[in-house]
Amino acid sequence: MLRSPINHCKQCGAAVTYRVPDDGDTKKRAVCPACHTIHYENPLNVVGTVAHWGEQVLLCKRNIEPRYGKWTLPAGFMELNETTAEGAARETDEEAGAQFEMQGLFTLLNVARVGQVHLFYRARLLSDQFNPGSETIEARLFTEADIPWDEIAFRTVKETLEHYFADRRRGDYGVHTIDIV
Ligand SMILES: [Zn+2]
Repeated sequence: MLRSPINHCKQCGAAVTYRVPDDGDTKKRAVCPACHTIHYENPLNVVGTVAHWGEQVLLCKRNIEPRYGKWTLPAGFMELNETTAEGAARETDEEAGAQFEMQGLFTLLNVARVGQVHLFYRARLLSDQFNPGSETIEARLFTEADIPWDEIAFRTVKETLEHYFADRRRGDYGVHTIDIV
């Protein structure tokens, strides 16, 4: 999920160099030596859902790298011109073909090391039937006891599931801010 560095200028195509710009900036940027464009790189948002059906939550078995064959909550990169909740709903539809209604924000996870922020919303499933898309081998429901904890694709997903079942036991769902280091 690491981004590769910028190699060429998006304006003129010249090879860029990574250096601190001369404008008082303090960070190295991809600077074009030909047209002087500075390419700023900022974190990406990953958005998804904890979709639940009674005591169970929906997990998707990944049909794509990275972590092919591992289980994940439905999630993916936010697109332009959508809200975080719209993106989370879109990913849940695309990856699982689920019928659901969106609920509140549940976790916000900073993954500063790779320049990402992950946001998971709770979602109430309206059906236990799924129609997974091409990125998913299998979409199915798991109780807490059945969750394949050693086969979870990402730390952010594992942390979100742990908080979900802890809050479920308490009968009160908070919003959790977590820094993945
Ligand atoms: Zn350029």
